[in-house]
Amino acid sequence: MDAVRIDLDYAGPYQPPSAPGIAYRPQPVTYHGKLAEPVYPGRLVVDGDWPATRPEECVGEYPTQWIGDGQVLICTGCGLDCT
Ligand SMILES: [Zn+2]
Repeated sequence: MDAVRIDLDYAGPYQPPSAPGIAYRPQPVTYHGKLAEPVYPGRLVVDGDWPATRPEECVGEYPTQWIGDGQVLICTGCGLDCT
C-alpha cells in the first residue's frame, strides 16, 4: 500500500480586514469567552468601548455586528473580529 501524501496548503496567520474607521488593538487574543472558544492566530480586537475589556473576559453571548462598511464582523461584547 502506498503512503498517502498530504500537502497542507497553509495560508499563514489571519490578516484582519482593513476598513474605514477600524483600528485594532495590537494585543494577541488567546481565546474567546467563558467557554474558552479557540481563536485563530492573528485575530485582533477592534478598538472601542466594549462591555468586556478583553475577549478572554467576554461572556461570549453577545450578538455579532457588521461594522466598517460591512467588512468586519465583531462580537459586540468584546470587539473581537469574528469575520
Ligand atoms: Zn466577545
